[in-house]
Amino acid sequence: MNAFEYRAPRALDEALTILREFGEEARAVAGGTALVTMMRQRLVRPSCLVSLRDIEDLGRIEPTDGVIRLGALVTHREAELSPLLRERLPVLAQTFRRVATVRIRHMATIGGALAHADPNQDPPVTLLALGARVVIRHAGGQRALALEDFFRDYYETALEPGELVTAVEVPLLPAATGGSFVKYLPRSADDYATVAVAATVTLGSDGERCRAGRIALGSVGATPLRPRAAEALLTGERLDERRLRAVGEAARGEVDPLTDHRGSAAYKREMTAVMVVRALTEAWEAARRAERAAR
Ligand SMILES: Cc1cc2nc3c(=O)[nH]c(=O)nc-3n(C[C@H](O)[C@H](O)[C@H](O)COP(=O)(O)OP(=O)(O)OC[C@H]3O[C@@H](n4cnc5c(N)ncnc54)[C@H](O)[C@@H]3O)c2cc1C
Repeated sequence: MNAFEYRAPRALDEALTILREFGEEARAVAGGTALVTMMRQRLVRPSCLVSLRDIEDLGRIEPTDGVIRLGALVTHREAELSPLLRERLPVLAQTFRRVATVRIRHMATIGGALAHADPNQDPPVTLLALGARVVIRHAGGQRALALEDFFRDYYETALEPGELVTAVEVPLLPAATGGSFVKYLPRSADDYATVAVAATVTLGSDGERCRAGRIALGSVGATPLRPRAAEALLTGERLDERRLRAVGEAARGEVDPLTDHRGSAAYKREMTAVMVVRALTEAWEAARRAERAAR
């Protein structure tokens, strides 16, 4: 690893000032689970590391105006165990639980996961299906982006040098809506996904048809993605076996996976169709439960 200066500011403004001072030479570090590996492999050689760990304001999970706001420093383990998330957005808490091992989940943070932009990660998939927004700060102010506009390419985001992710805002699910996250990993339980799918289904007023549905896919493209043509086949329809199969087939045509040690591109495409059906079936059942509970 190269020699570097280490700063541990206690306030966000101070961190932003340091990042501006060092420009592209500086890197923020949160959990360090990705960055330290990249530094060991000499893929990145920052001359200054700015630790975010002592910035208290970034570690909260709180409800505000129909959304749940998760600070960038919330760890995967904290999100998995949060009573608020478990009650209001159980699919998100369940997704964090599927990440790697407890050891990794204790360290890895939400801000780090988003900024790292590895398309094989799990939380971004569910956050995308839930319509989350990323809150970004720089020395001159703040901006917010839909998660769809945040991811640009493999390991590439819309973040400019000197910018930090400070939070992610996740809308609560509408009435009669259920969510699901399924992760297909044939090798070991703590591996990255071969294919990951998150889905939401909102029941229509008859309780039989799907009023709206969202699908997000991970590990099958340069970024987590939403297969729009597949989603369009959900609206106003009964999700019987035939329709679900058609949605899965449509999703298969919208992915562009790489062949790697987790499977060939062809295999990942096949598994996309299978896992989309599974995710939608689970989301449908969760929507039914939500509807019954609200009666
Ligand atoms: C062995 C192993 C297995 C894993 N398996 C999975 C898995 O199955 N599924 C999964 O989802 N994840 C998995 N992960 C975790 C994932 O790949 C990342 O390592 C993790 O999400 C990064 O979070 P971090 O807080 O440690 O980020 P760091 O390593 O601290 O930082 C990562 C990048 O983000 C930047 N950064 C950090 N915080 C911010 C911020 N607030 N604003 C702007 N930039 C920031 C850093 O500069 C760096 O470029 C695994 C990790 C390991 C080591």
